[in-house]
Amino acid sequence: MAVPLALGFVRPVTTPLLRLTRFANPFLLSRNHQISASRNASSAFNRIIQASLHSSSAGDSVGAKENVGQSEIIFIGTGTSEGIPRVSCLTNPDKTCPVCSKAVEPGNKNRRLNTSLLVRFPRPSGKCNILIDAGKFFYHSALTWFPAYGIRTIDAVIITHSHADAIGGLDDLRDWTNNVQPSVPIYTAERDFEVMKKTHYYIIDTSDVTPGAAVSDLQFNIIQEKPFLVHDLQFTPLPVWHGRGYRSLGFRFGNICYISDVSDIPEDTYPLLENCEILIMDALRPDRSSATHFGLPRALEEVRKIQPKRTLFTGMMHLMDHEKISEDLMKLKETEGLDIQLSYDGLRVPISL
Ligand SMILES: [Zn+2]
Ligand SMILES: [Zn+2]
Repeated sequence: MAVPLALGFVRPVTTPLLRLTRFANPFLLSRNHQISASRNASSAFNRIIQASLHSSSAGDSVGAKENVGQSEIIFIGTGTSEGIPRVSCLTNPDKTCPVCSKAVEPGNKNRRLNTSLLVRFPRPSGKCNILIDAGKFFYHSALTWFPAYGIRTIDAVIITHSHADAIGGLDDLRDWTNNVQPSVPIYTAERDFEVMKKTHYYIIDTSDVTPGAAVSDLQFNIIQEKPFLVHDLQFTPLPVWHGRGYRSLGFRFGNICYISDVSDIPEDTYPLLENCEILIMDALRPDRSSATHFGLPRALEEVRKIQPKRTLFTGMMHLMDHEKISEDLMKLKETEGLDIQLSYDGLRVPISL
């Protein structure tokens, strides 16, 4: 089923752009710095020509008309690092991959790019857009969903961990900091910032940049494993394991818990998941877990333990057939009363914050 994208245009920016507190030298940030970014003015889009609705649950949609007073999450990407379809599946002369074959079709729900979520909430100057992760395919996701949903600014990026499918798109933020807003605040754990000093050295220490070249202008804010504010919205880190000895962060905002990359949940993290309205959880493959990700059986086990009102799985590989797995999950509603669905790229879910 093809998902038509927005065909319209958006109004040009008419309000002052961001005025952000700059950290002159990110290396000087205190380890215990409790961050509270200032409220920023940002442009509001008053109009998007909308596409058709594809609801899988009450209120959810793809490319829906903007409701300016409504908070929402938009799934910018829901797939693994290599993306779905896999190129190697499409070029395999010996075997046809059923999911990747379907995923070739534009708008097919099996078509997935790097896992990422956009949190949007209203403020007087327009919607605040907070992105969780900007991976290798961020440009391609943004190209599809930002115009469709009338998303202009990126008011902050929060990083779960420093794998390429979570931070590979930091370079692409140059289009925003050169053409939309002066800079983008990044919230990251110190261990991931240490990785970025290597992977994105020229963005962090701009003395390396050729004079005249305009790279992303990012402000790095080091977060601890305790709540922090981004544009007055509280985010609580949900520390998890993403492979043995490798830490990743989920985030709770309001009663929504987002855990995109997880192989185990430490006991200390479970209390932070209590009274969860919407759980967004890693579910890599249908049969088993991997060393670094929950598979579907373990993800279901965790849902039964955490008992959220509603669950959306993300981070699916090419073995997860959207239609088939969705059917299986529907049965759990009948048998166990569990409200669980697979997310898909472009899915918008209205939320209360
Ligand atoms: Zn495949
Ligand atoms: Zn990862």
